[in-house]
Amino acid sequence: MRGGGSDPVREAARLLAERRNAVALTGAGISVESGIPSFRGAQGLWGKYDPMEYATLHAFMRSPGKVWEMLSEMISVCGFASPNAAHAGLSALEKMGVVRAVITQNVDGLHQAAGSRRVIEYHGNLDELICVYCWKLFETRKRWVIGEVPLCDCGQILKPNVVLFGEPIPWPAQEQAEEEARTCGVLLVIGTSAQVSPACDLPRIAKESGAAVVEINPEPTQLTRSVADVYIPGTASDIVTRLVGLLKHPSPGTGGH
Ligand code: NAD
Ligand code: ZN
Repeated sequence: MRGGGSDPVREAARLLAERRNAVALTGAGISVESGIPSFRGAQGLWGKYDPMEYATLHAFMRSPGKVWEMLSEMISVCGFASPNAAHAGLSALEKMGVVRAVITQNVDGLHQAAGSRRVIEYHGNLDELICVYCWKLFETRKRWVIGEVPLCDCGQILKPNVVLFGEPIPWPAQEQAEEEARTCGVLLVIGTSAQVSPACDLPRIAKESGAAVVEINPEPTQLTRSVADVYIPGTASDIVTRLVGLLKHPSPGTGGH
């Protein structure tokens, strides 16, 4: 990991300006400032819902009504949330030609709401419901009513079209994400604890393919020492806003257009 005495935000801006061709990998931390709790850390959802009881495919098949308690809370919270300055900043960086895609582990749709156009939803999203028996898809807003467990036309209980623990990543998302990681010049890893597999493999794939890895997170993670070339301790909105500012108004040493 570099950064040392120099300002890591300037170092990251220099890498982005020089290499362009950046891809962002985002996790629950980028949406914390939009009021959506992350899974781990202070006020994390796991404090309230044990993931093994609430977020596995096995738990859903065994007691879907119980798992829907957590899902209902997530759908409600995400439905009221708006993008924050970090989502807006990544969308601005895409328009500036610096970031070419966002791979997100989030299911909240906030990157698209902020205007990002190329978004790979690695874990699906909450906008759709799927029947795990006949695979029929429904729009959540048309089928789901708060406090009720939605049913398919075949009578079975519907599941949001998100990836629960024990489910594979949808193949197109997996393939596109790996391709982006293999071919990007910089991977900007923002607000992920890098503990959920296989998303946590993407930074290593990028690094082994020659990309610089920049990590933005108030807390160090397992990537910080092993994979990150630049670690920036701080919140997503603050750091991404500063990066956009430096790339819009480059000073000597930052590079830029
Ligand atoms: P995580 O909950 O495991 O980790 C969140 C990380 O964000 C932590 O490392 C924390 O230090 C960091 N963080 C906290 N506040 C931050 C801020 N203001 N700015 C930047 N970073 C901040 O999240 P994960 O690694 O994404 O894994 C959780 C899984 O749960 C994901 O796969 C995701 O699908 C799902 N999830 C999604 C949402 C959502 O859609 N918003 C919310 C909760 C969980
Ligand atoms: Zn069905």
